[in-house]
Amino acid sequence: MSGTHSDCIFCRIVAGELPSNKVYEDDDLLAFHDIRPAAPVHLLVIPKLHLQSLAQARPEHEAMLGKIMLRCAELARAQGLNDGFRTIINTGPIGCQEVPHLHAHILGGPEPLGAMLPSQLHLKR
Ligand code: 5GP
Ligand code: ZN
Repeated sequence: MSGTHSDCIFCRIVAGELPSNKVYEDDDLLAFHDIRPAAPVHLLVIPKLHLQSLAQARPEHEAMLGKIMLRCAELARAQGLNDGFRTIINTGPIGCQEVPHLHAHILGGPEPLGAMLPSQLHLKR
């Protein structure tokens, strides 16, 4: 799935039809503040191309995916996250992906973010 989708929130942000608090834009990517921040710094980096999720990524998306990762590091630096940060890409229902347009979260703040996932001690190996 690619192109621009008029019913996709993030495609509508790319098109300027919905507002966002942008921190970066180039021909391929857009980055903006998450509307419901889960940490003192919470940015989203998205491709302008509509790709539903990482599960739909194909070899032709390799350069774009690399650009997203490098931009995450650059934006984290620009936000002053010099002691580290977390990058998350939720994928599909099991990954609890809410917006079906590929995006990387950048999360950080002055304090450590805590465990990556709640304890799942009930899961037996
Ligand atoms: P997901 O669960 O899909 O990985 O994350 C989607 C993220 O997008 C959530 O953190 C949510 O707060 C954010 N989000 C949803 N709608 C909007 C919006 O209209 N504007 C912005 N800036 N963020 C949004
Ligand atoms: Zn989209």
